[in-house]
Amino acid sequence: MQILLGRRDRPKAGSDARSFLPVRALTVAAIVILIAISLSLVRDSKVPSLPEGAMPFVRRVLEMLPRIGKEREDRFSGVYSWRIPAFPACDTFWGLPLATFSRPTAYYLKSIYDGRGYIANASELMDAINSTDMPADVGEVFCDPMTWRFWLNPFANKLPPANVYGSGPARDILKRAIIANRHQGYVSRTVRLEIAGELKQLRSQLSSEEQDRAGNVTLAIDVYSPLAAYANPSAHEITVSESLVRTVFVRAATAKVPKLRDIVDAAQRDQDGVKAARAIRQLASDTLVEVGRDLSFILAHELSHLSVPTIDEREADCYGLSLVVSRSKVPDIGVFRDVEEALASGYSQYWNGLPAAVITERFQLLQIWSEAARDGSSVKPICVEAWKALEKDERD
Ligand SMILES: [Zn+2]
Repeated sequence: MQILLGRRDRPKAGSDARSFLPVRALTVAAIVILIAISLSLVRDSKVPSLPEGAMPFVRRVLEMLPRIGKEREDRFSGVYSWRIPAFPACDTFWGLPLATFSRPTAYYLKSIYDGRGYIANASELMDAINSTDMPADVGEVFCDPMTWRFWLNPFANKLPPANVYGSGPARDILKRAIIANRHQGYVSRTVRLEIAGELKQLRSQLSSEEQDRAGNVTLAIDVYSPLAAYANPSAHEITVSESLVRTVFVRAATAKVPKLRDIVDAAQRDQDGVKAARAIRQLASDTLVEVGRDLSFILAHELSHLSVPTIDEREADCYGLSLVVSRSKVPDIGVFRDVEEALASGYSQYWNGLPAAVITERFQLLQIWSEAARDGSSVKPICVEAWKALEKDERD
């Protein structure tokens, strides 16, 4: 939730494989290429060879880089899976935020990853439903493609080869999504579109002056940060971290298991594939809506940094909450509530590394504004008056 002023752009998941590689991996690749060039083309006078005595330094750099990856893993492991149930690993499904070995569940995930235009073929779905039972335990319904581990330590966690797209009975159902997402970061394109849509909806709640200040704001995804979001006023860009999006996504999807089970049970009883496909389609759409709603306050907070504009976190919270209330009528701060729990559990580094005391004050203020909204008061005039009074206090 920090505002980003002239900070170096972080690597983002892009549309091609090269931009998807983390900077450190690229650095190593560059050094390796440099060494290869200097060794193989040493006779070519046009290519400068490595200066004498430089090789030990190159070796030292190479020895150090994997350690940086390890330190990152020690520091952040847990952040990427914090408050997410543990699933069995299925690392050949690399590229997805969540996968499964269960065929009926695969149709549910496919309905999310392939977008709202997709609906399962009724007879194929019935075949999947009739051939297997849903696992009894929620932890067994899904599996973790472990994509996030790559970002923690790309040296220890290698990507699977391009032609490997999963194993088990669900692999053919998810094949398209895996291949499409492999170079798009591990947050699927549909999930990104949903979040970008939520941001657009929030922006449309702003006055025209505020919209001008926010500009034509776009959404970016940061593959490296733990739970984090920030706004860049010069680029009119709001960035959310993939681990934050994945946390929200995994929780929304796992919460749908009882409903998915009901759909599967009804289909086994009625043998109505068309009805089951429609119900799964609806369940997938509901999941996407929940992902957007859970991130709505965080997006609104970042948007307020640009539209107010302000660098005061509390002021951005106030206007952000007011925006959420205009959009959804409820003062719901969504997944940001988890940050409070993370702080209470002693994990202050989980949220942009801000000191716990600063964030605790923010939650106390959010509580006051939420109560005002629930009492039917409009939040925005409270923000305007409060900060007007604060500025006056500072002048006096
Ligand atoms: Zn902020």
